[in-house]
Amino acid sequence: MSRSAKPDVIVIGAGAAGLAAATALHEAGRHVLCLEARERVGGRMLSTAVDGGALDLGATWFWPGEQRVATLAARTGAGVFDQHLSGDAVFHDGSGPRRLQGNMIDVPAYRFAAGAQHLPAALAASLPADAVLLDTPVTAIRSVGEDGLEVHTPDRTLRAAQVVLAVPPALALERIDFGDALPDEVVRLARSTPVWMGAVAKVVGLYSSAFWRQDGLAGAAFSRSGPLQDIHDMSGPEGRPAALFGFAHARAVRPGFDKAVAAQLAACFGPAAGSPDALHVRDWSREPWTAPRTVHALADYSLFGHPLYQRPTLDDRLHWASTETATEYAGHVEGALRSGERAAYAVMSSGLYGSGNTAD
Ligand SMILES: Cc1cc2nc3c(=O)[nH]c(=O)nc-3n(C[C@H](O)[C@H](O)[C@H](O)COP(=O)(O)OP(=O)(O)OC[C@H]3O[C@@H](n4cnc5c(N)ncnc54)[C@H](O)[C@@H]3O)c2cc1C
Repeated sequence: MSRSAKPDVIVIGAGAAGLAAATALHEAGRHVLCLEARERVGGRMLSTAVDGGALDLGATWFWPGEQRVATLAARTGAGVFDQHLSGDAVFHDGSGPRRLQGNMIDVPAYRFAAGAQHLPAALAASLPADAVLLDTPVTAIRSVGEDGLEVHTPDRTLRAAQVVLAVPPALALERIDFGDALPDEVVRLARSTPVWMGAVAKVVGLYSSAFWRQDGLAGAAFSRSGPLQDIHDMSGPEGRPAALFGFAHARAVRPGFDKAVAAQLAACFGPAAGSPDALHVRDWSREPWTAPRTVHALADYSLFGHPLYQRPTLDDRLHWASTETATEYAGHVEGALRSGERAAYAVMSSGLYGSGNTAD
């Protein structure tokens, strides 16, 4: 019988939070099964391979003090290096670009030479081979009393004593049918909690060299003219692969977007910036496994780390995780890792064990 048949704990979502939970539970000797809707692990940590390295289309940085990310990066050989800071920044508005003295836009931060997705990929690879099921969206969760929780996917029904829900709460409420089992206050909270960066498009321009550095520019800009609001150097170690990236509001992604981005990059960093070898646009608001339909309306970030997320629900068998539930570093990968670890410890200290049989 495969390991997936009788899990002690089911983790829903194989992003940083879900994989941190699954790893902690596995290391504690629990039989864990992680169900992931997408065909890949990593969630909002997504990298694409290019000649000489990787480009991050989701999370990019971590910052001093983010100890869990630092430890994981070192353990998995992600190749940490410093964000490029030196050079002048650019301020760009309707009256044109202005070169500022120095770079007051970027703060000291670290990057991953192997790409941010290396971290979740390495976590998944260190779990038993059949512990992560891809292409397996969870569609419903039901309480089955003493037997724990039943977790439904399009083609199977699984049972476990406890479940870690490592999915942005508003998305979980939209995609997963809980019947009427969740308390009203939990439903209201989860439906109102924003999805961090869920309404953002990330744009990455790839170049043959980081030519802006030779011009004494940092590759950093604030712009009020064009779709990108802030732009940063996203080149790899020693400037290879050479890349600039910017964030745009997802609503700005419409016909003509790429052309407007190219014009904006050229205005800020010179004509060569307007002709990238490749322009990657990742609109996270259109990712069905990141953003609920309500994503543009959710703005109350004070709900991040809410006390209700620190308590289990559904007969104390369903534990919240995801960066949105973290009490510290919410929104960051560090928060996601912490939320997953917290949920794993809550599972281990709960004393609830179940049959873990498959229901069919
Ligand atoms: C453009 C962008 C830039 C960012 N930059 C940074 C940065 O520089 N530094 C930083 O620290 N953070 C950054 N972040 C935030 C960071 O990516 C997140 O905090 C972190 O990756 C969240 O991890 P998570 O596990 O909580 O959620 P997710 O990564 O969203 O993982 C949730 C997982 O659950 C899966 N899932 C969803 N629904 C279901 C379902 N019904 N059944 C099964 N699986 C399901 C999803 O496919 C996904 O894999 C950025 C995010 C974005 C989008």
